[in-house]
Amino acid sequence: MIPLVDLKKQYESIREEIDSAIADVVHSCQFVLGEKVESFEADFADYCRARFAFGVNSGTSALHLAMLAAGVGPGDEVITVSNTFVATIAAICYTGASPILVDIDPRTCNIDPAKIEAAITPRTKAIMPVHLYGSCADMDPISDIARKHNLILIEDAAQAHGAEYRGRRAGSMGDLACFSFYPGKNLGAYGEAGAVVTNNEEYVEIIKQLRDQGQSAKYVHERIGYNYRMEAIQGAVLDVKLKHLDDWNRARRKHVEVYRRELADVGVRLLEEPADGKSVHHIFPLFTEQRDELRAHLQAAGVSTGVHYPIPVHLQRGFRGLGYNAGDLPHTERACREVLSLPLYPELADETVMQIADSVRQFCRQAVAPSLISG
Ligand SMILES: *Cc1c(COP(=O)(O)O)cnc(C)c1O
Repeated sequence: MIPLVDLKKQYESIREEIDSAIADVVHSCQFVLGEKVESFEADFADYCRARFAFGVNSGTSALHLAMLAAGVGPGDEVITVSNTFVATIAAICYTGASPILVDIDPRTCNIDPAKIEAAITPRTKAIMPVHLYGSCADMDPISDIARKHNLILIEDAAQAHGAEYRGRRAGSMGDLACFSFYPGKNLGAYGEAGAVVTNNEEYVEIIKQLRDQGQSAKYVHERIGYNYRMEAIQGAVLDVKLKHLDDWNRARRKHVEVYRRELADVGVRLLEEPADGKSVHHIFPLFTEQRDELRAHLQAAGVSTGVHYPIPVHLQRGFRGLGYNAGDLPHTERACREVLSLPLYPELADETVMQIADSVRQFCRQAVAPSLISG
């Protein structure tokens, strides 16, 4: 079976560096925050071309902290999308604010900037675009709207480590940005981890305090905070892996170029390549009304696939209280019905990419033929 992602192959390619970085942590017995995390924070801020990065214990915690630091709370509204991993919206709910969900542009699957202004009310406090699948949301019009209405702009960059938009990096475009280092992300820890990134010095103290029980000094608590600290082992692993990230993102891009070439006119829909940006291809999605049939065909051919995501957040049982119904976000709902993710990771062999593309083409030939005859 060809897996959707293969973390073992990557570990094998950097085993010595990783093992020695982890051994350093164990020998130091400095297990939480400390030198390794600080070194990663400095390197990751540089990588994002931003001033500050703060290591935390997950991408979800990063989102929660970014919103708290920005003063988002009960009675506020935060505009985002439903076509995302559930954490984007759950984190808004943690603050007591209400998520306001707008539809996507079906060509990119990211927030449609043209739909944002209609969702703004006197309670709107922030806009949180998600850079889904590794491609940046259309940030210039979104920043203009944020500035015009005096709203905080928070990037959910959990799938976009290294992605670019008009020469800027994901993580450097909002007031705050949030990353996840869940193991399967483009930059993945060996456990749970995340980061908040910002250019704004104003947020530095509050983020440091909130992630560490509200402490300003040992046993001095300025506010009620959280235990959202990054573990040293994760900082050590991430600092090793960050040096390889550009190579890995390049390898993903090369595989995607093959997929796009081979699947250009077989009858499945592909996302538009951002003309003024650089995707880091966290996921390679295609879209077809015969998604479930194609998925079964690929499974039988030995190809694992994913669905990102099968049920939009506004139609999940746990989020019924938000008050949305089927039909409210038609492009989002259609994407969730039709999306299928093909295997994509840097270590994929070129022949394997061709083999996967061939399996998709084979399905499309069979699936398209009968309708041509009957039509
Ligand atoms: C992974 C992800 C998160 C959450 O990150 P965790 O580290 O799993 O908490 C948030 N938003 C998006 C878009 C994600 O893909």
